[in-house]
Amino acid sequence: MTKLSGKCLCGDISFEADGDVPVMANCHCTACRQSTGSAYATLMFMKQDNVQITGTPKTYQHKSDTGNVMTKHFCANCGTPMFTQNSAREGMLGLRAGLLNEHEEFVPKANVYTSSKMKATVLEDGIPAFDKMPG
Ligand SMILES: [Zn+2]
Ligand SMILES: [Zn+2]
Repeated sequence: MTKLSGKCLCGDISFEADGDVPVMANCHCTACRQSTGSAYATLMFMKQDNVQITGTPKTYQHKSDTGNVMTKHFCANCGTPMFTQNSAREGMLGLRAGLLNEHEEFVPKANVYTSSKMKATVLEDGIPAFDKMPG
């Protein structure tokens, strides 16, 4: 895996990451749409220990539809959504792939929560689509 890096719009928060990315997916859930302001979230989950963060993101916590505690990390200065954590995935950090300098490294393996996707969103053929979260 290549080294990954990225930063928020104003540059106050940046990160470098290295290591396996076991989960790459587009999430169409309502919370992802709201917290990103986008049609869906582009997520790469990797071990938190493999991610070095410079700067201090602000956090916001909410409950998922399955009752897990979700923590959203964002830049307090420019508002860029940066990272996400799920209490059910201890030690893992979700990086928002749109931030990557090496954005060609993002190859989603699945679309999840397609039950709440926007009508205008066209799903890519050839990768699985799940109504909710698989597993
Ligand atoms: Zn910023
Ligand atoms: Zn989501």
